[in-house]
Amino acid sequence: MTIGSILLGLALLIVVVLILARPLILHGRHKSTIAPLSTRQQLLLRKENLLNQIRALDFDHDTKKIPDDVYTAQRTELVAETAEVLKQVDTLGTEDQAIYAEIETAVAQLRQSNHQPVVSTNGKGRFCTNCGQPIDPGDNFCTSCGQDMRKQQPVLENR
Ligand SMILES: [Zn+2]
Repeated sequence: MTIGSILLGLALLIVVVLILARPLILHGRHKSTIAPLSTRQQLLLRKENLLNQIRALDFDHDTKKIPDDVYTAQRTELVAETAEVLKQVDTLGTEDQAIYAEIETAVAQLRQSNHQPVVSTNGKGRFCTNCGQPIDPGDNFCTSCGQDMRKQQPVLENR
């Protein structure tokens, strides 16, 4: 065997391996793109599958295909497994709710910071707490909307 034919053989081997591995690599990529969504779906599919098994078991029992003791044992096992899956779905659900609550809190905080009264009492820049228009330092009422600025001052001093 010459070095040339060994190299050719190696090259062919690499090509063959790459061709064989390609679907696996592509499959892996495809899987990873849908993975973040699938935990809950996988659990729900599993639950559906278990419920079908329980139904099938019930049917087999009704049609006397399996004895009572086997039926009871298998059904107990399936129901326990289904309960476990449902518990996991519930856990996911509360995690989702926690995330939503977190988002709502963040949005509320953002809203608050955007709506903070734009009033300063340092005399340079004074703005209406109602409409946000600038007010002359000496004015007690907003010239745009008539907001009583004297009422706002104790609140501002507490901040
Ligand atoms: Zn105003």
